[in-house]
Amino acid sequence: TSPRPDLVVVGSGFFGLTVAERVATQLGKRVLVIDRRDHIGGNAYSAPEPETGIEVHVYGAHLFHTSNERVWQYVNQFTEFTNYQHKVYSIYQGQTYSLPMNLATICQYFGKSFSPAEARALVAEQAGEFDTAEAANLEEKAISLIGRPLYEAFIRGYTKKQWQTEPTDLPAAVIARLPVRYTFDNRYFNDTYEGLPKDGYTAWLQRMADHPNIEVRLDTDYFDVRDELPSDVPTVFTGPIDKYFGYEAGELGWRTLDFETEVLPIEDFQGTSVMNYADEEVPYTRIHEFRHFHPERDYPKDKTVVVREYSRFAQTGDEPYYPINTPEDRAKLERYRELAAKEAAEKRVLFGGRLGTYKYLDMHMAIGSALSMFDNRIRPFFDDGGALDGRLDD
Ligand code: FAD
Ligand code: UDP
Repeated sequence: TSPRPDLVVVGSGFFGLTVAERVATQLGKRVLVIDRRDHIGGNAYSAPEPETGIEVHVYGAHLFHTSNERVWQYVNQFTEFTNYQHKVYSIYQGQTYSLPMNLATICQYFGKSFSPAEARALVAEQAGEFDTAEAANLEEKAISLIGRPLYEAFIRGYTKKQWQTEPTDLPAAVIARLPVRYTFDNRYFNDTYEGLPKDGYTAWLQRMADHPNIEVRLDTDYFDVRDELPSDVPTVFTGPIDKYFGYEAGELGWRTLDFETEVLPIEDFQGTSVMNYADEEVPYTRIHEFRHFHPERDYPKDKTVVVREYSRFAQTGDEPYYPINTPEDRAKLERYRELAAKEAAEKRVLFGGRLGTYKYLDMHMAIGSALSMFDNRIRPFFDDGGALDGRLDD
Protein backbone atom coordinates (compact mmCIF):
# COMPACT_ATOMS: atom_id res chain seq x y z
CA THR A 1 0.00 0.00 0.00
CA SER A 2 1.06 3.57 -0.64
CA PRO A 3 2.43 5.81 2.10
CA ARG A 4 0.03 8.03 4.00
CA PRO A 5 -0.73 11.18 1.97
CA ASP A 6 -0.30 14.64 3.48
CA LEU A 7 -3.16 15.93 1.34
CA VAL A 8 -6.02 14.31 -0.56
CA VAL A 9 -7.25 16.08 -3.69
CA VAL A 10 -10.62 14.97 -5.04
CA GLY A 11 -10.77 15.66 -8.79
CA SER A 12 -7.92 15.78 -11.31
CA GLY A 13 -9.15 18.82 -13.26
CA PHE A 14 -7.10 22.00 -13.54
CA PHE A 15 -8.05 23.09 -10.03
CA GLY A 16 -7.09 19.82 -8.36
CA LEU A 17 -3.90 19.35 -10.37
CA THR A 18 -2.70 22.89 -9.69
CA VAL A 19 -3.12 22.37 -5.95
CA ALA A 20 -1.44 18.95 -6.14
CA GLU A 21 1.47 20.26 -8.21
CA ARG A 22 2.13 23.18 -5.85
CA VAL A 23 1.93 21.09 -2.69
CA ALA A 24 4.20 18.39 -4.17
CA THR A 25 6.84 20.70 -5.63
CA GLN A 26 6.79 23.68 -3.26
CA LEU A 27 6.16 21.95 0.06
CA GLY A 28 7.58 18.51 -0.70
CA LYS A 29 4.39 16.89 0.63
CA ARG A 30 2.73 13.73 -0.63
CA VAL A 31 -0.55 14.21 -2.48
CA LEU A 32 -3.14 11.59 -3.35
CA VAL A 33 -5.34 12.69 -6.29
CA ILE A 34 -8.58 10.75 -6.71
CA ASP A 35 -10.80 10.88 -9.77
CA ARG A 36 -13.94 8.93 -10.54
CA ARG A 37 -13.33 9.06 -14.27
CA ASP A 38 -10.94 6.71 -16.08
CA HIS A 39 -8.71 9.59 -17.15
CA ILE A 40 -6.95 12.61 -15.71
CA GLY A 41 -7.74 16.25 -16.43
CA GLY A 42 -11.42 16.83 -15.71
CA ASN A 43 -13.31 18.61 -18.45
CA ALA A 44 -10.18 19.85 -20.19
CA TYR A 45 -9.24 16.27 -21.14
CA SER A 46 -8.73 15.58 -24.84
CA ALA A 47 -7.91 12.49 -26.85
CA PRO A 48 -7.14 11.66 -30.47
CA GLU A 49 -10.20 10.46 -32.38
CA PRO A 50 -9.08 6.86 -33.18
CA GLU A 51 -9.80 6.80 -36.91
CA THR A 52 -8.17 10.13 -37.79
CA GLY A 53 -5.80 10.98 -34.95
CA ILE A 54 -7.44 14.41 -34.74
CA GLU A 55 -7.38 15.75 -31.17
CA VAL A 56 -10.92 16.05 -29.85
CA HIS A 57 -11.76 17.93 -26.64
CA VAL A 58 -13.99 15.27 -25.17
CA TYR A 59 -16.08 17.55 -22.91
CA GLY A 60 -16.49 20.40 -25.38
CA ALA A 61 -14.05 22.72 -27.14
CA HIS A 62 -11.54 24.32 -24.76
CA LEU A 63 -9.79 27.55 -25.74
CA PHE A 64 -7.07 28.81 -23.47
CA HIS A 65 -6.86 32.56 -22.96
CA THR A 66 -5.80 34.78 -20.07
CA SER A 67 -4.61 38.25 -19.14
CA ASN A 68 -3.32 37.04 -15.79
CA GLU A 69 0.49 37.27 -15.89
CA ARG A 70 1.00 34.84 -13.05
CA VAL A 71 -1.25 32.20 -14.55
CA TRP A 72 0.46 32.59 -17.92
CA GLN A 73 3.92 32.13 -16.36
CA TYR A 74 2.65 29.14 -14.41
CA VAL A 75 1.07 27.26 -17.31
CA ASN A 76 4.10 27.81 -19.52
CA GLN A 77 6.06 25.54 -17.20
CA PHE A 78 4.04 22.59 -18.48
CA THR A 79 3.33 23.29 -22.13
CA GLU A 80 4.12 25.46 -25.10
CA PHE A 81 1.22 27.19 -26.81
CA THR A 82 0.44 27.59 -30.49
CA ASN A 83 -0.50 31.00 -31.86
CA TYR A 84 -4.14 29.93 -32.45
CA GLN A 85 -6.57 32.83 -32.23
CA HIS A 86 -10.20 31.89 -31.76
CA LYS A 87 -12.81 33.16 -34.22
CA VAL A 88 -16.45 32.14 -34.42
CA TYR A 89 -18.98 32.46 -37.23
CA SER A 90 -22.74 32.11 -37.16
CA ILE A 91 -25.16 30.81 -39.77
CA TYR A 92 -28.51 32.59 -39.86
CA GLN A 93 -31.11 31.92 -42.57
CA GLY A 94 -28.60 30.48 -44.98
CA GLN A 95 -25.95 33.19 -44.65
CA THR A 96 -22.69 33.06 -42.73
CA TYR A 97 -21.79 36.01 -40.50
CA SER A 98 -18.80 36.85 -38.38
CA LEU A 99 -19.04 36.99 -34.56
CA PRO A 100 -18.83 38.63 -32.06
CA MET A 101 -21.00 41.24 -33.69
CA ASN A 102 -18.68 43.60 -35.48
CA LEU A 103 -18.69 45.98 -38.40
CA ALA A 104 -18.59 43.08 -40.89
CA THR A 105 -21.66 41.50 -39.25
CA ILE A 106 -23.59 44.78 -39.28
CA CYS A 107 -22.69 45.68 -42.88
CA GLN A 108 -23.58 42.20 -44.13
CA TYR A 109 -26.80 41.96 -42.14
CA PHE A 110 -28.11 45.31 -43.35
CA GLY A 111 -26.66 44.77 -46.86
CA LYS A 112 -24.77 48.06 -46.94
CA SER A 113 -21.34 49.54 -46.15
CA PHE A 114 -21.35 51.58 -42.95
CA SER A 115 -18.56 53.61 -41.41
CA PRO A 116 -18.01 52.88 -37.70
CA ALA A 117 -19.92 56.10 -36.82
CA GLU A 118 -22.82 55.22 -39.10
CA ALA A 119 -23.06 51.70 -37.68
CA ARG A 120 -23.01 53.08 -34.13
CA ALA A 121 -25.78 55.54 -34.93
CA LEU A 122 -27.89 52.84 -36.57
CA VAL A 123 -27.56 50.43 -33.64
CA ALA A 124 -28.22 53.23 -31.12
CA GLU A 125 -31.43 54.06 -32.95
CA GLN A 126 -32.53 50.42 -32.98
CA ALA A 127 -31.59 49.94 -29.32
CA GLY A 128 -33.59 52.88 -28.00
CA GLU A 129 -36.60 50.75 -27.11
CA PHE A 130 -35.08 49.69 -23.75
CA ASP A 131 -32.68 51.31 -21.32
CA THR A 132 -29.71 49.04 -20.50
CA ALA A 133 -29.72 50.01 -16.82
CA GLU A 134 -33.40 49.14 -16.47
CA ALA A 135 -33.48 45.98 -18.57
CA ALA A 136 -35.51 43.39 -16.67
CA ASN A 137 -34.43 40.27 -18.55
CA LEU A 138 -32.03 38.94 -21.18
CA GLU A 139 -34.19 40.02 -24.11
CA GLU A 140 -34.53 43.62 -22.95
CA LYS A 141 -30.85 43.82 -22.09
CA ALA A 142 -29.74 42.45 -25.46
CA ILE A 143 -32.07 44.75 -27.38
CA SER A 144 -30.83 47.72 -25.36
CA LEU A 145 -27.26 46.86 -26.41
CA ILE A 146 -27.57 45.78 -30.05
CA GLY A 147 -31.11 46.63 -31.17
CA ARG A 148 -33.99 44.34 -32.03
CA PRO A 149 -33.01 43.18 -35.56
CA LEU A 150 -29.55 41.91 -34.58
CA TYR A 151 -30.97 40.45 -31.38
CA GLU A 152 -33.64 38.53 -33.26
CA ALA A 153 -31.16 37.21 -35.80
CA PHE A 154 -28.17 36.19 -33.71
CA ILE A 155 -29.27 35.96 -30.08
CA ARG A 156 -32.89 34.96 -29.67
CA GLY A 157 -32.89 31.57 -31.41
CA TYR A 158 -29.44 30.60 -30.15
CA THR A 159 -30.25 31.55 -26.58
CA LYS A 160 -33.56 29.67 -26.61
CA LYS A 161 -31.74 26.55 -27.78
CA GLN A 162 -28.93 26.99 -25.28
CA TRP A 163 -31.18 27.56 -22.25
CA GLN A 164 -34.54 26.02 -23.24
CA THR A 165 -36.01 29.09 -21.65
CA GLU A 166 -37.61 32.15 -23.20
CA PRO A 167 -35.09 35.02 -23.24
CA THR A 168 -37.71 37.12 -21.41
CA ASP A 169 -37.46 34.62 -18.52
CA LEU A 170 -33.66 34.65 -18.36
CA PRO A 171 -31.72 37.05 -16.13
CA ALA A 172 -30.18 40.03 -17.92
CA ALA A 173 -26.84 39.06 -16.37
CA VAL A 174 -26.45 36.04 -18.70
CA ILE A 175 -25.59 38.46 -21.43
CA ALA A 176 -23.85 41.03 -19.24
CA ARG A 177 -21.21 41.96 -21.74
CA LEU A 178 -22.49 41.24 -25.18
CA PRO A 179 -19.69 42.73 -27.20
CA VAL A 180 -20.41 44.78 -30.30
CA ARG A 181 -17.37 46.07 -32.09
CA TYR A 182 -17.50 48.95 -34.51
CA THR A 183 -14.37 47.66 -36.24
CA PHE A 184 -13.67 44.62 -38.37
CA ASP A 185 -11.82 42.93 -35.49
CA ASN A 186 -13.44 39.52 -35.01
CA ARG A 187 -11.15 37.90 -32.46
CA TYR A 188 -13.36 36.15 -29.95
CA PHE A 189 -11.23 36.88 -26.86
CA ASN A 190 -9.74 40.18 -25.72
CA ASP A 191 -7.08 38.62 -23.51
CA THR A 192 -3.35 39.36 -23.65
CA TYR A 193 -2.42 35.70 -24.07
CA GLU A 194 -4.12 33.07 -26.13
CA GLY A 195 -3.20 29.73 -27.68
CA LEU A 196 -3.71 26.00 -27.63
CA PRO A 197 -1.32 23.54 -25.96
CA LYS A 198 1.09 22.46 -28.66
CA ASP A 199 0.95 18.77 -27.91
CA GLY A 200 -2.57 18.72 -26.58
CA TYR A 201 -4.39 19.25 -23.30
CA THR A 202 -3.77 15.76 -21.95
CA ALA A 203 0.02 16.00 -22.30
CA TRP A 204 -0.12 19.32 -20.41
CA LEU A 205 -2.32 17.89 -17.64
CA GLN A 206 -0.14 14.79 -17.32
CA ARG A 207 2.98 16.91 -16.91
CA MET A 208 1.35 18.71 -14.00
CA ALA A 209 0.74 15.39 -12.26
CA ASP A 210 4.11 13.89 -13.11
CA HIS A 211 5.93 14.08 -9.79
CA PRO A 212 7.09 11.37 -7.36
CA ASN A 213 5.08 13.02 -4.56
CA ILE A 214 1.83 12.78 -6.55
CA GLU A 215 -0.18 9.58 -6.77
CA VAL A 216 -3.21 9.63 -9.08
CA ARG A 217 -5.95 7.07 -8.47
CA LEU A 218 -8.44 6.91 -11.34
CA ASP A 219 -11.81 5.10 -11.52
CA THR A 220 -12.26 5.90 -7.86
CA ASP A 221 -15.22 7.74 -6.43
CA TYR A 222 -14.30 9.67 -3.31
CA PHE A 223 -17.57 8.76 -1.65
CA ASP A 224 -16.72 5.06 -2.00
CA VAL A 225 -13.27 5.36 -0.42
CA ARG A 226 -13.47 8.23 2.04
CA ASP A 227 -13.91 5.87 4.98
CA GLU A 228 -10.64 4.13 4.12
CA LEU A 229 -8.68 7.40 4.08
CA PRO A 230 -7.05 8.70 7.28
CA SER A 231 -9.81 10.79 8.88
CA ASP A 232 -7.59 13.75 9.81
CA VAL A 233 -5.88 14.16 6.43
CA PRO A 234 -6.65 17.57 4.86
CA THR A 235 -8.72 17.34 1.69
CA VAL A 236 -9.34 19.62 -1.27
CA PHE A 237 -12.68 18.65 -2.79
CA THR A 238 -13.41 19.74 -6.38
CA GLY A 239 -16.51 17.60 -6.98
CA PRO A 240 -20.11 18.89 -6.66
CA ILE A 241 -20.61 20.69 -3.36
CA ASP A 242 -24.30 19.74 -3.07
CA LYS A 243 -23.45 16.06 -3.46
CA TYR A 244 -20.76 16.34 -0.77
CA PHE A 245 -23.38 17.46 1.72
CA GLY A 246 -25.88 14.78 0.66
CA TYR A 247 -28.08 17.41 -1.08
CA GLU A 248 -29.03 18.63 2.38
CA ALA A 249 -30.13 22.01 1.00
CA GLY A 250 -31.40 20.58 -2.29
CA GLU A 251 -29.85 19.99 -5.71
CA LEU A 252 -28.12 22.88 -7.49
CA GLY A 253 -29.26 23.36 -11.11
CA TRP A 254 -26.89 22.70 -14.01
CA ARG A 255 -27.07 22.58 -17.76
CA THR A 256 -25.41 19.74 -19.60
CA LEU A 257 -24.39 19.23 -23.20
CA ASP A 258 -24.75 16.30 -25.56
CA PHE A 259 -22.07 15.83 -28.21
CA GLU A 260 -22.63 13.96 -31.45
CA THR A 261 -19.33 13.07 -33.11
CA GLU A 262 -19.03 12.16 -36.77
CA VAL A 263 -16.06 11.34 -39.01
CA LEU A 264 -16.67 12.59 -42.54
CA PRO A 265 -14.75 11.36 -45.62
CA ILE A 266 -13.71 14.89 -46.66
CA GLU A 267 -10.82 17.18 -45.83
CA ASP A 268 -12.83 20.17 -44.67
CA PHE A 269 -16.46 20.46 -43.62
CA GLN A 270 -16.86 24.11 -42.62
CA GLY A 271 -13.53 25.87 -43.06
CA THR A 272 -13.33 26.97 -39.41
CA SER A 273 -13.28 25.48 -35.93
CA VAL A 274 -16.63 26.67 -34.57
CA MET A 275 -19.83 27.50 -36.45
CA ASN A 276 -22.80 28.69 -34.41
CA TYR A 277 -26.31 28.03 -35.69
CA ALA A 278 -28.59 30.94 -34.89
CA ASP A 279 -31.82 29.54 -36.38
CA GLU A 280 -34.15 28.09 -33.80
CA GLU A 281 -35.22 25.30 -36.18
CA VAL A 282 -31.69 23.81 -36.26
CA PRO A 283 -31.63 21.59 -33.16
CA TYR A 284 -27.93 21.98 -32.30
CA THR A 285 -26.31 25.21 -31.13
CA ARG A 286 -22.96 24.79 -32.86
CA ILE A 287 -20.65 22.49 -34.80
CA HIS A 288 -16.99 22.07 -33.91
CA GLU A 289 -14.54 20.86 -36.52
CA PHE A 290 -11.50 19.89 -34.52
CA ARG A 291 -8.84 19.86 -37.26
CA HIS A 292 -9.06 23.66 -37.43
CA PHE A 293 -7.81 24.09 -33.86
CA HIS A 294 -4.41 22.83 -35.05
CA PRO A 295 -3.75 23.96 -38.62
CA GLU A 296 -0.04 23.42 -37.89
CA ARG A 297 -0.50 19.65 -37.50
CA ASP A 298 -0.21 17.03 -40.16
CA TYR A 299 -3.79 15.72 -40.09
CA PRO A 300 -5.28 13.38 -42.73
CA LYS A 301 -6.43 15.05 -45.95
CA ASP A 302 -9.31 12.66 -46.58
CA LYS A 303 -11.11 12.75 -43.25
CA THR A 304 -12.38 15.26 -40.75
CA VAL A 305 -14.09 15.10 -37.33
CA VAL A 306 -17.17 17.22 -36.63
CA VAL A 307 -19.03 17.42 -33.33
CA ARG A 308 -22.56 18.77 -33.02
CA GLU A 309 -23.39 20.30 -29.65
CA TYR A 310 -26.85 20.18 -28.04
CA SER A 311 -27.71 21.86 -24.77
CA ARG A 312 -30.27 20.81 -22.13
CA PHE A 313 -31.06 20.81 -18.41
CA ALA A 314 -28.97 18.24 -16.53
CA GLN A 315 -30.83 15.36 -14.90
CA THR A 316 -29.42 13.22 -12.11
CA GLY A 317 -26.49 11.30 -13.58
CA ASP A 318 -25.70 13.82 -16.36
CA GLU A 319 -22.39 15.68 -16.43
CA PRO A 320 -22.94 19.10 -14.82
CA TYR A 321 -21.49 21.75 -17.18
CA TYR A 322 -22.90 25.23 -16.61
CA PRO A 323 -24.37 26.45 -13.30
CA ILE A 324 -27.86 27.84 -13.97
CA ASN A 325 -27.86 30.14 -10.94
CA THR A 326 -31.55 30.83 -10.40
CA PRO A 327 -32.46 32.73 -7.20
CA GLU A 328 -33.33 29.32 -5.67
CA ASP A 329 -29.87 28.05 -6.59
CA ARG A 330 -28.27 31.10 -4.94
CA ALA A 331 -30.22 30.45 -1.73
CA LYS A 332 -29.12 26.80 -1.65
CA LEU A 333 -25.54 27.83 -2.34
CA GLU A 334 -25.60 30.19 0.66
CA ARG A 335 -26.45 27.24 2.87
CA TYR A 336 -23.72 25.09 1.31
CA ARG A 337 -21.18 27.85 1.87
CA GLU A 338 -21.97 27.85 5.58
CA LEU A 339 -21.62 24.07 5.68
CA ALA A 340 -18.32 24.34 3.79
CA ALA A 341 -16.85 26.79 6.30
CA LYS A 342 -17.82 24.44 9.12
CA GLU A 343 -16.40 21.41 7.30
CA ALA A 344 -13.06 23.18 6.90
CA ALA A 345 -12.87 24.03 10.58
CA GLU A 346 -13.97 20.61 11.79
CA LYS A 347 -12.74 18.18 9.13
CA ARG A 348 -10.04 20.08 7.21
CA VAL A 349 -11.91 19.95 3.90
CA LEU A 350 -11.58 22.82 1.43
CA PHE A 351 -13.88 23.25 -1.58
CA GLY A 352 -12.60 24.53 -4.91
CA GLY A 353 -13.06 24.54 -8.65
CA ARG A 354 -16.11 24.72 -10.84
CA LEU A 355 -18.19 22.04 -9.12
CA GLY A 356 -16.90 22.71 -5.61
CA THR A 357 -17.91 26.39 -5.72
CA TYR A 358 -20.82 26.20 -8.22
CA LYS A 359 -19.22 28.82 -10.43
CA TYR A 360 -18.49 28.82 -14.13
CA LEU A 361 -14.70 29.15 -14.19
CA ASP A 362 -12.59 29.32 -17.31
CA MET A 363 -9.40 27.28 -17.14
CA HIS A 364 -7.24 30.29 -16.32
CA MET A 365 -9.66 31.21 -13.54
CA ALA A 366 -9.64 27.69 -12.08
CA ILE A 367 -5.84 27.71 -12.13
CA GLY A 368 -5.64 31.24 -10.67
CA SER A 369 -8.08 30.35 -7.94
CA ALA A 370 -6.13 27.18 -7.08
CA LEU A 371 -2.88 29.19 -6.86
CA SER A 372 -4.60 31.58 -4.44
CA MET A 373 -5.91 28.72 -2.33
CA PHE A 374 -2.40 27.34 -2.17
CA ASP A 375 -0.87 30.69 -1.12
CA ASN A 376 -3.54 31.81 1.31
CA ARG A 377 -4.77 28.63 2.93
CA ILE A 378 -2.76 25.52 2.14
CA ARG A 379 0.79 26.78 2.53
CA PRO A 380 0.00 28.58 5.83
CA PHE A 381 -1.71 25.43 7.08
CA PHE A 382 1.35 23.26 6.40
CA ASP A 383 3.83 25.94 7.54
CA ASP A 384 2.15 26.77 10.84
CA GLY A 385 -0.08 23.76 11.38
CA GLY A 386 -2.95 26.17 11.99
CA ALA A 387 -6.60 25.75 11.13
CA LEU A 388 -7.82 25.74 7.54
CA ASP A 389 -9.65 28.84 6.40
CA GLY A 390 -12.67 27.36 4.65
CA ARG A 391 -14.57 30.41 3.46
CA LEU A 392 -15.52 30.15 -0.19
CA ASP A 393 -14.34 33.05 -2.30
CA ASP A 394 -16.97 35.42 -3.57
P1 FAD B 1 -13.27 19.81 -13.66
O1 FAD B 1 -12.40 19.91 -14.83
O2 FAD B 1 -14.72 19.56 -13.87
O3 FAD B 1 -12.69 18.62 -12.74
C1 FAD B 1 -13.39 18.07 -11.66
C2 FAD B 1 -12.98 16.61 -11.51
O4 FAD B 1 -13.53 16.09 -10.31
C3 FAD B 1 -13.51 15.73 -12.65
O5 FAD B 1 -12.43 15.06 -13.26
C4 FAD B 1 -14.45 14.78 -11.94
O6 FAD B 1 -14.45 13.48 -12.50
C5 FAD B 1 -13.89 14.76 -10.53
N1 FAD B 1 -14.88 14.35 -9.53
C6 FAD B 1 -16.11 14.87 -9.31
N2 FAD B 1 -16.73 14.21 -8.31
C7 FAD B 1 -15.86 13.27 -7.87
C8 FAD B 1 -15.91 12.26 -6.87
N3 FAD B 1 -17.00 12.08 -6.11
N4 FAD B 1 -14.85 11.46 -6.69
C9 FAD B 1 -13.74 11.59 -7.47
N5 FAD B 1 -13.64 12.53 -8.43
C10 FAD B 1 -14.68 13.35 -8.63
N6 FAD B 1 -12.48 27.07 -20.04
C11 FAD B 1 -11.71 27.85 -20.81
O7 FAD B 1 -10.80 28.49 -20.31
N7 FAD B 1 -11.92 27.93 -22.17
C12 FAD B 1 -12.90 27.22 -22.79
O8 FAD B 1 -13.05 27.31 -24.01
C13 FAD B 1 -13.72 26.39 -21.99
N8 FAD B 1 -14.70 25.68 -22.57
C14 FAD B 1 -15.51 24.91 -21.79
C15 FAD B 1 -16.53 24.19 -22.39
C16 FAD B 1 -17.36 23.40 -21.62
C17 FAD B 1 -18.46 22.62 -22.28
C18 FAD B 1 -17.17 23.33 -20.21
C19 FAD B 1 -18.07 22.50 -19.34
C20 FAD B 1 -16.15 24.03 -19.61
C21 FAD B 1 -15.30 24.83 -20.38
N9 FAD B 1 -14.26 25.54 -19.82
C22 FAD B 1 -13.47 26.33 -20.59
C23 FAD B 1 -14.03 25.49 -18.36
C24 FAD B 1 -13.03 24.42 -17.93
O9 FAD B 1 -13.51 23.14 -18.28
C25 FAD B 1 -12.86 24.56 -16.43
O10 FAD B 1 -12.26 25.77 -16.13
C26 FAD B 1 -12.02 23.50 -15.81
O11 FAD B 1 -12.50 22.23 -16.17
C27 FAD B 1 -12.15 23.67 -14.32
O12 FAD B 1 -11.46 22.69 -13.70
P2 FAD B 1 -11.95 22.07 -12.35
O13 FAD B 1 -10.78 21.32 -11.86
O14 FAD B 1 -12.57 23.05 -11.46
O15 FAD B 1 -13.17 21.07 -12.74
N1 UDP C 1 -25.06 33.79 -27.58
C1 UDP C 1 -25.96 33.96 -28.60
N2 UDP C 1 -25.57 33.71 -29.89
C2 UDP C 1 -24.32 33.27 -30.20
C3 UDP C 1 -23.40 33.09 -29.16
C4 UDP C 1 -23.80 33.35 -27.85
O1 UDP C 1 -27.09 34.32 -28.35
O2 UDP C 1 -24.05 33.05 -31.39
C5 UDP C 1 -25.50 34.08 -26.18
C6 UDP C 1 -26.21 32.90 -25.53
O3 UDP C 1 -27.24 33.41 -24.70
C7 UDP C 1 -25.11 32.28 -24.70
C8 UDP C 1 -24.29 33.48 -24.27
O4 UDP C 1 -24.39 34.39 -25.37
O5 UDP C 1 -25.64 31.59 -23.59
C9 UDP C 1 -22.83 33.15 -23.99
O6 UDP C 1 -22.26 32.55 -25.13
P1 UDP C 1 -20.82 31.89 -25.18
O7 UDP C 1 -20.60 31.37 -26.55
O8 UDP C 1 -19.85 32.83 -24.60
O9 UDP C 1 -21.01 30.69 -24.17
P2 UDP C 1 -20.25 29.32 -24.01
O10 UDP C 1 -19.18 29.21 -25.04
O11 UDP C 1 -19.72 29.39 -22.62
O12 UDP C 1 -21.32 28.33 -24.20
